[in-house]
Amino acid sequence: MPSPAWALNDNRLTGGLRPPTIPPRFGRLGEVVCPPVAENKMRITKVEPIILRLPHVTEAVDGTQDDLLIRIETDEGIYGWGEVDSSPEVARAIVEAPTSHGIAHGLRQVLLGRDPFDIEQLWRDMYRATIYYGREAVVIHAMSGVDMALWDILGKATCKPVHKLLGGSYRSKACAYASVLMPETAAEAQRMARDYVSQGFTAVKFGWGPLGRDEGLDVELIAAARSGAGCARLMIDIGQQYTVKQAIRVAKRVEKHKLYWMEEPLPPDDFDGYRRLAGEVTVNIAAGEAESSRRAFRRLIQDCCIDIVQPDISRAGGLTETRKIGTFADDANVRLVPHAFKTGILLAACLHLIAALPNTELIEFSLADSPIRRDLLTEPFQVVGGHVEVPEKPGLGIEVNPEVVAKYRVA
Ligand SMILES: [Mg+2]
Repeated sequence: MPSPAWALNDNRLTGGLRPPTIPPRFGRLGEVVCPPVAENKMRITKVEPIILRLPHVTEAVDGTQDDLLIRIETDEGIYGWGEVDSSPEVARAIVEAPTSHGIAHGLRQVLLGRDPFDIEQLWRDMYRATIYYGREAVVIHAMSGVDMALWDILGKATCKPVHKLLGGSYRSKACAYASVLMPETAAEAQRMARDYVSQGFTAVKFGWGPLGRDEGLDVELIAAARSGAGCARLMIDIGQQYTVKQAIRVAKRVEKHKLYWMEEPLPPDDFDGYRRLAGEVTVNIAAGEAESSRRAFRRLIQDCCIDIVQPDISRAGGLTETRKIGTFADDANVRLVPHAFKTGILLAACLHLIAALPNTELIEFSLADSPIRRDLLTEPFQVVGGHVEVPEKPGLGIEVNPEVVAKYRVA
């Protein structure tokens, strides 16, 4: 497949920075003299959803087998990247849909011609423009990718990393936890955990796979993972498979293995179950990757008594919404660890959020084998000494490899 048209406009030559069409102006005594309002507006000129897919997609609960990228261009030549963790074709339709009536639009209709700096207003306008068919789930997923791309543009336009625009930096790096699917056997779980620790990870999470089929096997797998992980932090993601009583039984049986958290033991709609579970066990309960928008997270934090909330920035409403969720969680004395099982675009967004929030320090680092995850960025993030550095380049601080996009693009 030939390189896409946008790849020919290679802003890597300028770092994707805002061209100096509006030079800074300073008056006497150094006060800033703003340019005329009309001159100071940037306009969105293109909103492009791009679907990537591996040639063979399996039933494994591995979101790196396909992807929906959102690329937004402006009249100043600045572009931004976002990413959506959803059903790519469904989310793309929400971006591309023509106007149906006054409050039933596709997102592109809302965005074209608008100033990306009106990012709060754009979020609310997208929400209002889709309110009959949106409000939660896939519409918020699609909005998340758009919002991420807009923050990338804002950073590039101001020559600032996104975390500075989000309010500053509590930290310059995040502690990475290795995140993988649980293998089928205890021996494999032990070996994998040992390998990740030897690579420098100080935290490891196993999830989904065989977990939830048999309580005895789950306990055996968790014990093996602890044996391999040593004193590293160990987390287990049950993948929504338990009833409340099952979760209580297993949590008590593995108490001696000192899990750092048990993730999504119950289906996401079992709010009452989460509240009952939290009152019965000592292990931290983590949940939230299935939720979208701050309203859902408010319910999860207030009503379910969970210990760690896990919004996915590519599903929960982008950085604009997830920052609000983080503040709400902090007010409730709940920690936030963003869910992230996609590519380096989402990883970058997570790093900027983690830098800008007080109540978070861990970042999920997927080790899925997909080349979409592994190769999409020209400079993939590296784990050094168990940590990943927060990008300091303008915007999200990443660049997408056009050859990889061309290779896996299906729409
Ligand atoms: Mg999970």
